[in-house]
Order: sequence, then C-alpha cells, then structure tokens
Amino acid sequence: MTTIADNLQGVLARIAAACAACGRDPGEVTLLAVSKTFGPEAVREAAGTGQRAFGENYIQEAVEKIALLQSLPLEWHCIGPIQSNKTRLVAANFTWAHTVDRLKTAQRLSEQRPADMQPLQVCIQVNLDGGATKSGVAPSAALGLAREVMQLPQLRLRGLMTIPEPAADFAAQKATHLKAKALFDEMREAGVPMDTLSMGMTGDLEAAIAAGSTMVRVGTAIFGTRERLSAKA
Ligand SMILES: *Cc1c(COP(=O)(O)O)cnc(C)c1O
Repeated sequence: MTTIADNLQGVLARIAAACAACGRDPGEVTLLAVSKTFGPEAVREAAGTGQRAFGENYIQEAVEKIALLQSLPLEWHCIGPIQSNKTRLVAANFTWAHTVDRLKTAQRLSEQRPADMQPLQVCIQVNLDGGATKSGVAPSAALGLAREVMQLPQLRLRGLMTIPEPAADFAAQKATHLKAKALFDEMREAGVPMDTLSMGMTGDLEAAIAAGSTMVRVGTAIFGTRERLSAKA
C-alpha cells in the first residue's frame, strides 16, 4: 500500500513532467490537495510532507476539520458550491473561495469576512461546457462579474476556476482547458488583474497544465478513492 506521502510525491512528479513537456516552470503551478471526505489525520499526513494548500467541498465538514487542525500553518480553499446560508462559514474559515458565480454570493462573502482577517482570495467559477445544471457563470458574463467583485472591499479577485465535463482523451481535455485560458487572457487584457487559473484534477491535470493552469486540484491521486460522494452538505 502506498502512503499519502508517496502519492503526493507521485503527483508532484506528474506536475513536473507535465511542465517539462510544455516548457513551463513547475514553480508556476500550485498543487491544491483536495481532502474532502478524508479525515484530519489524512490532512496531517499530507501536511507533514510540506503540503500547505487544501481544498474542501462540503462546508460543514471542512469547518470541523479546519478547527481540529488550527495549529498547522495550512491554507484552506473552498471548492464546493456556496449556498447563501453557508457564506458566513466560508468567509470566517477559508483563505480562498474558488466557486464564486453570483454577485450576491460575492457581496455576502465580502460583508461577512471578519475585519481582522486578510481579504478572502476568490476565483470566479466559469461554466465552459454549457451544461444547464452545472454551476459557474457563462463565459460571456465573467468579465462583468469580475468587475463587480473587484469593487468589494473584503474580497481579492485572483482568477478563474473551471470544472469541465470529463473528456475522453488528452486532446479533448486540453481543448476545453484552452477555452478557459483564452477567457483568462482576454479578461487580463481588459484590465482585470488575475494570476490564478484553477483547473485540472486527477484525471486531466496534464492537459490543464499544457493549457496554462496555475493551480491543479487533486484529490483521488493523493488520498485515494472517495467512498462518500456527497457527505454533509
Ligand atoms: C473533488 C474535486 C476535485 C478533485 O477531484 P479528483 O478527481 O479526486 O482529483 C477537484 N475539484 C473539485 C471542484 C472537486 O469537487
């Protein structure tokens, strides 16, 4: 059986190889370890290897874990849907929120961010596939939302985030990720100061890096297969 530490090394090696294959510096790509459904001990083991950034989907589960691990210098990223009744918990407990896709959510996060904390670092989630039930703003609405978010005092806009539909092969994965990269570049040229493109997971991180991802969110390849697909919401 491999350990979390071995798995993390393996993922870092995948990131390094993917960067080498497209001539990028591995220092440009941050690994976000997605620890949803895994307990605090798994996070502690990963943190022991130097991993700092952890991603969580289920707010209530995350808040408990964050409290238990308060003594570690970790950075927590909210990557799950943010319902209105959860914005206060997100604002008070996380360093980043990747899944902002409505102005109302952004406003609540800014209002509820405790004054003694740094601004919440946010990404706008973009829906590139057009799937009707998926969260994320339409690409055509991303620039408008970004400009509104930039006005909110307790938020700091960092970039875009996407969760594409699973695609069959590298070329198809990369094609979708390239759409995100094109939107990212377009928005930056339009004057939105962003440095983060959050895309790529266990199954498609190489394609995401080839397309320009700066943050890959990896769960399964680090912690193993999840048993509960949706636990405490
Ligand atoms: C669960 C999840 C991940 C990690 O997915 P893996 O395929 O396990 O690497 C990344 N991003 C989001 C938004 C997720 O919900």
